[in-house]
Amino acid sequence: MDFDLPEETRMLKDTIRRFVDAELIPLETSLPDRPNSYELPKDVREPLEKKIRDLGLWAMDAPEDVGGAGLGLLDHCVVIEEAHRCTAGRGLWSSLFFPVLHNLGSEEQKTKYLLPSMRGEFHGAAAFSEPNAAGDLAGIQTSAEKVDGVWVLNGSKCWISHAKTARYILVLTRLKGTARHEGITWFIVDADTEGFSVGREQKMIHGQPTYELFFNDCHVSDSQLLGEPGQGWGAGETALYRGRVMISARAIGIAQRCYEMMVEYAKERHTFGKPLSSRQAIQWMVADSATDIHASRLMVYDAAWRAQQGQEVRTQMAMIKMFTSEMAGRVVDRAVQVHGASGLSDETILERCYRDVRPMRIYEGSSEAMRSVVAKNIFQEGRNR
Ligand SMILES: Cc1cc2nc3c(=O)[nH]c(=O)nc-3n(C[C@H](O)[C@H](O)[C@H](O)COP(=O)(O)OP(=O)(O)OC[C@H]3O[C@@H](n4cnc5c(N)ncnc54)[C@H](O)[C@@H]3O)c2cc1C
Repeated sequence: MDFDLPEETRMLKDTIRRFVDAELIPLETSLPDRPNSYELPKDVREPLEKKIRDLGLWAMDAPEDVGGAGLGLLDHCVVIEEAHRCTAGRGLWSSLFFPVLHNLGSEEQKTKYLLPSMRGEFHGAAAFSEPNAAGDLAGIQTSAEKVDGVWVLNGSKCWISHAKTARYILVLTRLKGTARHEGITWFIVDADTEGFSVGREQKMIHGQPTYELFFNDCHVSDSQLLGEPGQGWGAGETALYRGRVMISARAIGIAQRCYEMMVEYAKERHTFGKPLSSRQAIQWMVADSATDIHASRLMVYDAAWRAQQGQEVRTQMAMIKMFTSEMAGRVVDRAVQVHGASGLSDETILERCYRDVRPMRIYEGSSEAMRSVVAKNIFQEGRNR
């Protein structure tokens, strides 16, 4: 067995680390509204985007046939991990590529929506969550009915990221009269379609807003249907895998930075005449964090590599999503504890990291849902080894 990253992946990791250290970490202290700003100002963002294009990493999550960098899962993972050591400019690394649009979309739909999104001309949003069904997606109620040759959508969505500025929305609906997993169907709704509106902003703990969406007799033609009617369930499965690995990679990146800060601070800060690093209580927090991060990295790289080889990784994906999102919470919390008051204030990035990691246990499959997947595979499918 060889647990080292492949040589090329290691070089990529080092390149991104140098880029993040030189170009992005300094922005953490120089940007206005620094603890909360998600978007970089245009004059700062554009030159950085150019540098990321020059590194060949623009739209790295998207396949080459739609203009992406087509990075393998393991390489993508290490880039995201390194990028998330910094709180500034995280949006630079995400292209809002939607696998479901790539997998089910016609050539016309890809040309109209996906290619310009990959070039950075505009972006979309994906809307599946509803007030009465989000974790339990088979319970969605937003309906689609064909009347006189036109699709009529009715219902509402909530917690939708990027919706305010999106040019189009990928909407998960159900064919009228169907229940649970039957009849689930994706549509592409242009933001200026009559009957569609963006509602209230739903502020989130980490500063990136989400929105309510409404569909009131929203008429769309067949050209907006994604795939076939009823083909929606399961169409996003591979996307979920990728999404879960990426959340895990983000969790490791954030935890790594907080851990590095914890170690440095413990060496510098003296109380009662001695450095914090000399106290067993502090040493144990550092040791537990190093162990947590090491275990997470092994699990995530292993799952990413296996998925890349085409192996069945459903259980591993659920394990890593649950373990790493909870791990990041533990490590950030310890880092805050070691820093005392400064960890709670905007003197450091720790309070921002604390807020950033909390949503990870809820979106893209909550910790409870992930444990259910693992348990199901153990008890129902007998995968107990
Ligand atoms: C920051 C953020 C961004 C988001 N962006 C988007 C987006 O762009 N598009 C979109 O469509 N959605 C988005 N969401 C919504 C997200 O997908 C849902 O919040 C998530 O699926 C959980 O659904 P819920 O909030 O309704 O919780 P629920 O499903 O109501 O669950 C509530 C709690 O109960 C637990 N629970 C539920 N069922 C069980 C069970 N059977 N056994 C044990 N425990 C259970 C859950 O684990 C959870 O802890 C976003 C959410 C967040 C936080």
